Amino acid sequence: MKPLTEQEIRAAFLNCTKGEAKRLNVPRGLPELPWEELDFLGWRDPQAPERAYLVAELDGRLAAVALRLSTGGAGQARRSMCSLCLTTHSGGVSLMVAPLAGKAGQQGNSVGAYMCTDLACSLYVRGKREAGAGGRLHESLTLAEKSERTLANLAAFVAKVTV
Ligand SMILES: [Zn+2]
Repeated sequence: MKPLTEQEIRAAFLNCTKGEAKRLNVPRGLPELPWEELDFLGWRDPQAPERAYLVAELDGRLAAVALRLSTGGAGQARRSMCSLCLTTHSGGVSLMVAPLAGKAGQQGNSVGAYMCTDLACSLYVRGKREAGAGGRLHESLTLAEKSERTLANLAAFVAKVTV
């Protein structure tokens, strides 16, 4: 993806208030991130580990989503699959819950999806980070096709947030 600035990221949030988007912690050292190896940027808030965020360019527009890790203890140890990059982890996948955009979100409505807990989907897809034995299925897809699929899955999730 193309490198993003802090201002671009903050302005792209769909499901939190302007004040929240202004205050939330964006990753340090943005210019040094390996942008060319990222399909989207996802991060956990270092000061509030139950908060996570992701930002991607979808259909030429930036979309950022604020997430919360659902800490339901059950299922943590089971092997589960990230709904974005389709990597299977034992214990490395979390249910991420996003408030819906706008009024629906203020009324407490949300949508959830299982995602890599570290949101490093791009690195698993590229084999830069290992998810353990059997983490990635052998596929005949090219990297570009896998990246495209990750982004399509992400776009489907963002569409649910913005209904
Ligand atoms: Zn993933």
